[in-house]
Amino acid sequence: MTATAETRRFEAEVAQVLHLVTHSLYSHKDIFLRELISNASDALDKLRFESLARPELLAGDADLHVDLSWDPDAGTLTLTDNGIGMSREEVIDNIGTIARSGTRRFLDALSGDARKDSRLIGQFGVGFYSAFIVADKVTLTTRRADASEADGVRWESSGTGEYSLETLAVPERGTRIVLHLKSDEREFLDGWKLRDLIARYSDHVAFPIRMQASKDGKPDGEFEAVNQASALWMRPKSELTDADYQAFYKSFGHDFNDPLAWTHNRVEGNQSYTLLLYVPGAQPFDAMLGGRDERKGLKLYVRRVYIMDGAEQLLPPWLRFVRGVVDSDDLPLNVSRELLQDNRLVSQIRAACIKRVLDLLEKLAKDDPAKFAQFTREFGNVLKEGIADDPANRERIAKLLRFASTHGDGADKTVSLEDYVGRMQAGQDVIWYVTADSFAAAKGSPQIEALKARGVEVLLMFERIDEWMIGYLGEFAGKKLRHVAKGQFDAAGGADAEQRRQVEEAAAGVVDKLKQSLGERVRDVRVSHRLTDSPACLVLDEHDMALHMQRLLREAGHDVPASQPVLEVNSAHALVRRFEGETDPGRAADLAVLLLDQAQLAGGGALEDPAAFVQRLNRVILGG
Ligand code: ADP
Ligand code: MG
Repeated sequence: MTATAETRRFEAEVAQVLHLVTHSLYSHKDIFLRELISNASDALDKLRFESLARPELLAGDADLHVDLSWDPDAGTLTLTDNGIGMSREEVIDNIGTIARSGTRRFLDALSGDARKDSRLIGQFGVGFYSAFIVADKVTLTTRRADASEADGVRWESSGTGEYSLETLAVPERGTRIVLHLKSDEREFLDGWKLRDLIARYSDHVAFPIRMQASKDGKPDGEFEAVNQASALWMRPKSELTDADYQAFYKSFGHDFNDPLAWTHNRVEGNQSYTLLLYVPGAQPFDAMLGGRDERKGLKLYVRRVYIMDGAEQLLPPWLRFVRGVVDSDDLPLNVSRELLQDNRLVSQIRAACIKRVLDLLEKLAKDDPAKFAQFTREFGNVLKEGIADDPANRERIAKLLRFASTHGDGADKTVSLEDYVGRMQAGQDVIWYVTADSFAAAKGSPQIEALKARGVEVLLMFERIDEWMIGYLGEFAGKKLRHVAKGQFDAAGGADAEQRRQVEEAAAGVVDKLKQSLGERVRDVRVSHRLTDSPACLVLDEHDMALHMQRLLREAGHDVPASQPVLEVNSAHALVRRFEGETDPGRAADLAVLLLDQAQLAGGGALEDPAAFVQRLNRVILGG
């Protein structure tokens, strides 16, 4: 054979990740062990899975494990697994290139905050490189379980620009990683320290992690398991403490933070399965950034055998923040993604997952409002997708949503729809809300003035998804949701009809004059019953899309027909009065357009011709 040894350069982005990992994650350097053990455990899972179809892969060595050893004289740490191993191509693909999209997104997601970034590393599939936080040389020797002895591979790198590859004979299947520790990382050459790290991060890895005892600082004797090595989710709830659940979550979810809540259930019946589902404390970056279709948070096992990550059929997109394990007794071991798609057992499990998570969130909302507020901040917008996606659970989901309101103070002071309905005023028959680009814009909307003046609560919505979500929700507890800037406005539900008629009659003249002055610029001009302080605002028809949504969609490149707004004016306002009394046609025209332009601005819109606005404003101010 020729050219079995070669030197290759890392792809540019790998080099960049390496640099960032080694320099910015130094404060969390311990994670390297967790990441390498997690890879070894994945490799064992893969072997167990492949051996279902090809039992010969296990030949003579069915006892799957990870061995950890240290050598104080050589300054090395060695991690050995008898898992699936890698071929030469796989070594190049998995460790030398960025074939996996994770690397690029990892770089984009880095925040510079070491604590946050250290969470990212495991989640983006760049965990292997964490070895270079503590090692200045890493030697990986591997042989795929189905390859012959001669087809082993050795990969070596000092983590700078290059790595070397060599084909050589490797007698046993699996992967051995030798870390040549940097001279100031000798603290890891200590059996107690290593055991402590395993207990902290990897206790619940489902395979034995084995070590020898320490004698005079060196390993000595037989290898013995130092972790629990059991599938935690199969143990009875009564045996497990909160700390057990939290530790499992952290090792399994590559997260340093505690989860917010979890639910653990064993279901026995026409089919049997176990669920252990977690709500994280913060957004898991892979699941959130990847968007609706990419979910890695849920692992599917069949009778303790790991089958796949991100089984999206088991959870709907609107619960994509959930992480955990589903272990089924009844699905076939050779289950594929295709098979999952249209499977009765799977849809039952999925319904159970949804129900359990909703139960959990309802309990959290009731028992721990502070944690629930954190949930809302992190995942409230994802949950809103459920309103559209899952009509059967719409009511339950709606109860879990929280919104800012004119009765709270601040974007975080949120209320539930139940709170709102519970304190509606006598005679009020709709739930009022306004949508805008930001909390400030929603709170300052002129359209809510009259309601505020009457003490009627208005929900302030400023998330992109809100308008869309409300389109599906429509009503809550029999009360319609109504946008304050849409349709005819009647805060008092008709009780003040006579008064309204008088106002309209008195304003008929100025409304006419405005209509003539503005002409084609507006669909209509009306006297407003919504305003108290502002001179004017824009309103839409019942079924028009809110102006800020139209804007957002246009910015996103959609072709949205502009619905011409209706201008409503406050006939009592001094500026409107001034327009009414203005006899000079030029000045009257300026005032009319200024009223329209400022209504546009107050709604968060941009003017088509800002320079003309400024000139007009200056003319009016200077009385020219
Ligand atoms: P991730 O584990 O998220 O995929 P890593 O950077 O930790 O990302 O590992 C990259 C890839 O290298 C793994 O997906 C796997 O294919 C391969 N790999 C790493 N360690 C091992 C191992 N011990 N045995 C087999 N393959 C491994
Ligand atoms: Mg990994």
